[in-house]
Amino acid sequence: MKPAGRIDLPDRMRDPAAARLFAALDAAGIAARFVGGCVRNAVLGSGIDDIDIAVRKPPETVMLALRAAKLKVIPTGLKHGTVTAVVDGRTFELTTLRRDVETDGRHAVVAFTDDWLEDASRRDFTFNALYADRDGTLYDPFEGRADLARHKVRFIGDPDLRIAEDRLRVLRFFRFHAWYGAPPLDGPSYAACARHSGALGNLSGERVAKEVLRLLAAPDPADAIEAMADAGALDHWLPEYDGTKLLRALIARETAPDGLRRLAAVLEGTADATAIGKRLKLSTQQALRLDLMIAREPPVGVNLRAELYRLGKTVFVDRALLQAPDNWQEALKLADEWTPPELPVSGADALKLGLKPGPKVGVLLDQIERWWIAGDFAADRDSCLAELERLAKHT
Ligand code: ATP
Ligand code: MG
Repeated sequence: MKPAGRIDLPDRMRDPAAARLFAALDAAGIAARFVGGCVRNAVLGSGIDDIDIAVRKPPETVMLALRAAKLKVIPTGLKHGTVTAVVDGRTFELTTLRRDVETDGRHAVVAFTDDWLEDASRRDFTFNALYADRDGTLYDPFEGRADLARHKVRFIGDPDLRIAEDRLRVLRFFRFHAWYGAPPLDGPSYAACARHSGALGNLSGERVAKEVLRLLAAPDPADAIEAMADAGALDHWLPEYDGTKLLRALIARETAPDGLRRLAAVLEGTADATAIGKRLKLSTQQALRLDLMIAREPPVGVNLRAELYRLGKTVFVDRALLQAPDNWQEALKLADEWTPPELPVSGADALKLGLKPGPKVGVLLDQIERWWIAGDFAADRDSCLAELERLAKHT
């Protein structure tokens, strides 16, 4: 692979931890380059999360080299050539150059190679096959940098073949488009995704959820999710999809993206969150929040402090953003600035007044809570106790 210019690497790829890692690899004569998302994002000048490094020796050799340099190393996926190095508390994923020997639509049997171009060819999109030496020398075998500049997500090689190898790539196509693309989509790549959209049923719910939620967490994912739906790529996993009208309105209102809330915004009002949660293997908590967001009931905006107290901050903010009553901005400000107090009396206080344990205590506490909320949470403990005593006498 020939160099294709130089880029400035962000600090995290040049700091002492990265230097120690490369020194360990150098000492063992192992050629290594940054690859994938970290190089792509370095080219863009945007933030990087995980650092992937391609290495030109088998994983066992890499492990020995790192251990000889007293670095911690975890055999993350030896079969696939991946080990994780932990240096000064930071992690790096090191994967041996490889090619896919056999694929079944999702998982590949791999063989290690010492050929950089072979390793590049098995990657999905042109801008995901960028490599960089630690001095910033760039390698760009498929003109990924130009595609990034043109905002084109383009498959490496024949899109149909690449999708047949791994159908998850259909979802990745739309996810990367949401983050780095701009309309119009690359024609051949999109057409192939549309052709294969009917065959996504064998993917796992978790992976689909991860891709869809990451897509939706992009700064402005509305066009991408729409393109994905038009291609039929949501038919199997999210038949409840109902367009981007609410999503677009939501994006204009929110201050921070939230994938799950945006998911709620593209679902029809009758969607069954429990069924979606099961299908996409969402956590119980995620499914519950989704349910509360889809329901959009009761509406917020009438008595903000009381609603914030009853719903809790997350649900209150979700509803304010999704329902957008006239005072939604006031609602968000309130959620930011005010933490609802706790009811100053409890069941124990009722028992002290001589009440027997039982449902009556619950009824009484409900009553006192309503009274306290109606008074805008102003009553202190003494006033609440007095009211509790008064109510107790009347029951
Ligand atoms: P992100 O910033 O979202 O993590 P990334 O490019 O690092 O983006 P990963 O899913 O972490 O994406 O994968 C790392 C690299 O591995 C990709 O850049 C790509 O080169 C390759 N890769 C990952 N998944 C696939 C796949 N399904 N098919 C082909 N190549 C893949
Ligand atoms: Mg990554």
